[in-house]
Amino acid sequence: GKILFNDTIIERKKIIDIEDRGYQFGDGIYEVIGVYGGKLFMLDEHLERLERSAKELQLALPVRLTILKEKIVELVSTNGLHEGVVYLQISRGVAERWHQFPSDDVTPVLVAYTKVEETLSDAENHGAKAVLTEDIRWLRCDIKTLNLLPNVLAKQKAIENNAVEAILHRGDIITEASASNVFIVKSGELYTHPADNYILNGITRRKIFALCEKLNMKVNEETFTVAELLRADEVFVTATKLDIIPIIKVDDTIIGDGKPGDIVRNIVEAYRHSIQELVSD
Ligand code: PMP
Repeated sequence: GKILFNDTIIERKKIIDIEDRGYQFGDGIYEVIGVYGGKLFMLDEHLERLERSAKELQLALPVRLTILKEKIVELVSTNGLHEGVVYLQISRGVAERWHQFPSDDVTPVLVAYTKVEETLSDAENHGAKAVLTEDIRWLRCDIKTLNLLPNVLAKQKAIENNAVEAILHRGDIITEASASNVFIVKSGELYTHPADNYILNGITRRKIFALCEKLNMKVNEETFTVAELLRADEVFVTATKLDIIPIIKVDDTIIGDGKPGDIVRNIVEAYRHSIQELVSD
């Protein structure tokens, strides 16, 4: 397929320079946007978050957002992507390797490509296992940066234990998971970590808030502990394309009755419905 390189759609080829700051320092940001039936899900929200990440890192966007939006839509249709994701990253650009920002004539490099990916419907329907691991990340997890080494290590631990996710705790407090947000259900209400510097404010997370409002379910943006997670009635994780995965076991502890609970099943149904609306729109 083709890729987007700054504001131009070109053939995919090797374009990354060894002195690209994304490559050398992880100095850059990214987004992963879901595509269903050839349509981009919550594209505006992803672009807004991209703009925020850029601002927090004093990184100038190389393409105006209105243009970028058109180009992403064009890329999806050019590549004929039906179901999958658009991966988009912006690095601070190519410059001689010094830690400090390069001079102003160095422009950030934007690259985006499409990837075929199917929803994990088996895990979504039947639930999956997670492991717990210490959150060893920095204190600006709200920025979607390319620096993902702690997330990589956590996810690897999950996979080695036949789990879909690694749920992270900072001391006693559950923050999020290696590549998703975590919700628990307690006495009919939902709880998830507040959107501060300790978590990424997921686009799927925000969609859950909107769906729960319609379903008349209360979501509390409040921290909860490891012990509260382990004795929750239900646990689930949310992320783009992962969608919503009920967690039925954490390490050796069975959650609830070991099956996806009623609340998460209602939310999954509402979520699928909103995607169906997008596809048939
Ligand atoms: N937290 C982390 C650490 C993530 O990497 C992701 C997915 N990129 C999420 C949460 C979920 O975010 P979203 O719903 O926007 O995909």
